[in-house]
Amino acid sequence: MARFRCSVCASEGKRVYDPQRHECPRCGSKDVVFALTIDELPDEIIEAIASAEPLDDPGSDGG
Ligand SMILES: [Zn+2]
Repeated sequence: MARFRCSVCASEGKRVYDPQRHECPRCGSKDVVFALTIDELPDEIIEAIASAEPLDDPGSDGG
């Protein structure tokens, strides 16, 4: 299950994330934002996030 929120009718709730059908169940708008938890992401996505370089390097101190 994934949390969703519609930006048109402000409807929100939980439903099974289906990339084929992600219209708002209430108003049918496609302007719906899904919030997938990290548990629902495929391992390859989690690995990609985990292996990404951090923007800030706390190790470099000096100059
Ligand atoms: Zn809606």
